[in-house]
Amino acid sequence: MTSPAAIIEVAIPLHLDRTFHYRVPEHLQHRALSGRRALVPFGNRKLTGYILGEAAETEIANLKDIIDVLDSEPLWTAGELEFFRWAASYYQHPLGEVVQTALPAGINIQTRKGTSGVEAPLTGGKSVRRETFYLPGPVEAVTIPRQPGAKALEILEVIREAGDISGGELRKRFGTCTPQLKRLAELGLATAEEREVYRDPFRNREVTRDEPRLLHSHQKMALEAITSCLDLQQYSPFLLHGVTGSGKTEIYLQAISHALELGKTALVLVPEIALTPQLTGRFQARFGGGIAILHSALSDGERYDEWRRIRRGLAKIVIGARSAIFAPLENIGIIVVDEEHEASFKQSDGLRYNARDLALVRGRMERAAVVLGSATPLVTSIHAAAQGRLTILELPDRVAGRPMPRVDLVAMKGSKGVLSAQLSTGLVETGEQGHQAIVFLNRRGFATFLVCAECAKPLICPNCSVTLTYHRQRRQSLCHYCDYAVPAPGTCPACGCPSLSELGAGTEKLEHELKELLPTARILRMDSDTTSGKGSHERLLSRMNDGSADILVGTQMIAKGHDFPEVTLVGVVNAEASLGMPDFRAAERTFQLLSQVIGRAGRGETPGRVVVQALDTEHYAIQSAAAHDGAGFYRQELEFRREAGYPPFTHLAAFAISGLAEHTVTEQADAAARLLAHLKTELKIRVEILGPAPSPLYRLRNRFRRQILLKAASRSDLHRLLTSWRQRAAVASTVRISVDIDPVDMM
Ligand code: ADP
Ligand code: ZN
Repeated sequence: MTSPAAIIEVAIPLHLDRTFHYRVPEHLQHRALSGRRALVPFGNRKLTGYILGEAAETEIANLKDIIDVLDSEPLWTAGELEFFRWAASYYQHPLGEVVQTALPAGINIQTRKGTSGVEAPLTGGKSVRRETFYLPGPVEAVTIPRQPGAKALEILEVIREAGDISGGELRKRFGTCTPQLKRLAELGLATAEEREVYRDPFRNREVTRDEPRLLHSHQKMALEAITSCLDLQQYSPFLLHGVTGSGKTEIYLQAISHALELGKTALVLVPEIALTPQLTGRFQARFGGGIAILHSALSDGERYDEWRRIRRGLAKIVIGARSAIFAPLENIGIIVVDEEHEASFKQSDGLRYNARDLALVRGRMERAAVVLGSATPLVTSIHAAAQGRLTILELPDRVAGRPMPRVDLVAMKGSKGVLSAQLSTGLVETGEQGHQAIVFLNRRGFATFLVCAECAKPLICPNCSVTLTYHRQRRQSLCHYCDYAVPAPGTCPACGCPSLSELGAGTEKLEHELKELLPTARILRMDSDTTSGKGSHERLLSRMNDGSADILVGTQMIAKGHDFPEVTLVGVVNAEASLGMPDFRAAERTFQLLSQVIGRAGRGETPGRVVVQALDTEHYAIQSAAAHDGAGFYRQELEFRREAGYPPFTHLAAFAISGLAEHTVTEQADAAARLLAHLKTELKIRVEILGPAPSPLYRLRNRFRRQILLKAASRSDLHRLLTSWRQRAAVASTVRISVDIDPVDMM
């Protein structure tokens, strides 16, 4: 694929289902190789395309010439291209857009509007920082024919001592020294060299070195299962199922260490890296350097730097959120997906990929071990393990035999107020014992919404079909979807009645009530209202860690990944809130979330205790979470999925049809469904077509939304139907139709 080609195949990042052929002018032939970008004429535009390789026979007579080749080094390998092609086909997405998604945003900065049409290669461009370094000149130049000056000699001394030193460093010591450096260069005493400088996302972080732990017996068995597969260099997918605190991370660390010893690299995917500073800290403490981190808080430039470090083999471990699945890491020995059940592995727009699923695909292509870890695996993972498609590794106990916390269920039906007597007493006692507590409520804001006492109409967002959440501190009613905000009205906008009542409770109200109950307690609130500032999240966590706070109140943000040994009491308010979601995964999500929150209690010396409040405590998701009965939950949930025909017993694809004009959206949704029904008959395949129906969020940011859900027992039937739909559909330009394979967000 790397021989010079006269005709090449190019993928273009537009919503087009095909690739294009171009001729390569002679002077570019040695550079127009696969894995590089090319500037190509397209209609009357110039676009950046991705060279896939030499084109097979082409029937087109008058091919256009490419204008330029934009990279001096390949951006992706043949193996990565195969992976991109797989994703394009599986997710029914144009290959050019898949490649674009896989490349770091920073690289595309250079691609914008080059006036000359000639763009910078990989080693240039705005996002790369280059700095001049000075080195001593050739040794022969010891006899100095002309005096360079005292300051220049001093500078020379420093360069000699350091071996090489950056211009910036010299300026720090000597102030302006350009004339002296120029002089030294003229005399052949120093040479200047341009080097690329990598921004280091770890800078200013202190790391203490950490040694591998002696494993307990379950950990040992799990690690051995993984390392023996690593030795064989075969694709081997594992499900590491262990309660929080059972030592999963220790296994990742030791398995990765084994992979590195074999000369392999490791890819670690985490749900949201900004929320897990502790995890990245542990990797640094164990491995020191050689780690690249890719996460959403990086600037485009930093991201691009990390990407290039990886591409050049300077990082052996890559840790990142979902997009890191496309990291340009070669020779992968192990892929870890931590908290594999997290919905955030799914990308919700553009290429709607699921990094957890792609980890298995990439792992297979790389013949790597793939370790999916969770305390509460996906129902589909448990099923796959039962069928033998994943090897299950169980860590049933917490490290050091710490018991799981005792859980009390409190039915709140008919009771007023946010806090039950049990939770109130528990909080008071915990405070008296000098321990910490966490209170969880998965709803931010003060009241859930304001409702008119007269006409009973709640306040609704004008752009979205959702109620506005009342935030007392800000004196505003807010839409949590589009950020629409109005001053909280004194009267009902519908009927003018002056009495608006607050319905439901959010974290803000919970914090307020806790302050009344425990006036001297130091209470922190953590939700997206209090963590929008940079570093605010880490600040709140460190106040819990250093004991300068007593109670942490928050949304699901507090449920994840933190290890607070002093927390002995966890309260859950409104445990059933997530059961009401119009989503077949509502029970699964509720079980996962409750289990995670419950797992926050008693991680230290003192045993923990949990109070779970719910209107109705009978649901199996709540019951099983409270009883630490994962097996019981999965049994019942799989039964429900089988009866209702949901994954893992069927495969799903969702069409989302949206637009600004309601009637066009309805029309186009109907047309799409009719075409699907027609094609299904034509292809003689069995796919269930549900809808079109209004989406649960019927209006979002002013757009009307309808959806069609496809269910099929056979994945290839579903795939064939979607492929022919894409070939045949003619969609009006005023609506958007997106196809989501294995949808996660059903709203
Ligand atoms: P998980 O990832 O399942 O939540 P961790 O790997 O974070 O579990 O382990 C929980 C705690 O126990 C951590 O502080 C970890 O350092 C410690 N730990 C893990 N394995 C061992 C072991 N074999 N011996 C002693 N401490 C351990
Ligand atoms: Zn809105």
